Amino acid sequence: MLTVAEIMQNARRAGVGIPAFNIPYLPMVQPVIQAVADQDSFALVEVARLEWVKFESRSPAAVAEEFARWDQPRHVRLHLDHIPVIDEDQQAVDFLAIIREALALGYKSVMVDGSRLSLEDNIQATRQVAELAHAAGVPVEAELGAVLGHEAGPVPPYEELFASGRGFTNVAEAKCFVQESGCDWLSVAIGNIHGAIAAGQRDLKKVEARVNLERLEQLSEATGVPLVLHGGSGIRADSVREATRRGIAKVNVGTEIRQAYEVALKKAGSVPEAQQAVYERTGWLLRDYFAIAGIRAKVAP
Ligand SMILES: [Zn+2]
Repeated sequence: MLTVAEIMQNARRAGVGIPAFNIPYLPMVQPVIQAVADQDSFALVEVARLEWVKFESRSPAAVAEEFARWDQPRHVRLHLDHIPVIDEDQQAVDFLAIIREALALGYKSVMVDGSRLSLEDNIQATRQVAELAHAAGVPVEAELGAVLGHEAGPVPPYEELFASGRGFTNVAEAKCFVQESGCDWLSVAIGNIHGAIAAGQRDLKKVEARVNLERLEQLSEATGVPLVLHGGSGIRADSVREATRRGIAKVNVGTEIRQAYEVALKKAGSVPEAQQAVYERTGWLLRDYFAIAGIRAKVAP
């Protein structure tokens, strides 16, 4: 069986983006995995710290346990998403302890998010995680640039943000960052934006985002590693597919399936119906949005 590092390299070479589905509610694990298997596709299942702190996925252990119940190793792997060094509320996080725990639990890849730090401090924090994870044979995703949306308070108008390129990942910095930090994959800011998670904002429809393809190509060439697009929900489908042909090998999807779950739960009041909504939404994403039904044989043979 291929490692997730090999699968990501295959995806990069093939110009395919592997979706990584976020789990803010534990019952979402089963329908996500089932949809990926039924589409004969491949995806990561992931949980970010804020999903057990601010939503209901409880802990990395609870997600790992739920994942193990439904695991289909030919189709999915478990990834640890956003472990911030400084979180969205500006609090310091004991990130190394969480990474250590996840490695012990069998997570196959991990992310450390030092994007709120200076370049130097981000490199240093990422290098610490890379040393830990690589000793366990696990690849590390890091982030450089500002993918907004998780912070409290209003996000600046999108068109203004996109036109100014404010917070976009700098090409020269990215090259130096990857070399010095030892990260395996890099999450970049190129016009993508996270779904809002602050109270009062989480139910809002996401703005339609685009990506700066020219910047993306430069980043891919300069770094030589698989790049990651966070905030995959709500990006125009043509924009996402073009991005995956130019170096994006992993696309995080949170809001799209979280809201499907929440809306169905509220309306039907039953977890099985909310799970069905997640199953259908995930299937739609794989088949119609990413157009990667049947991709397993290509990226994870
Ligand atoms: Zn993210």
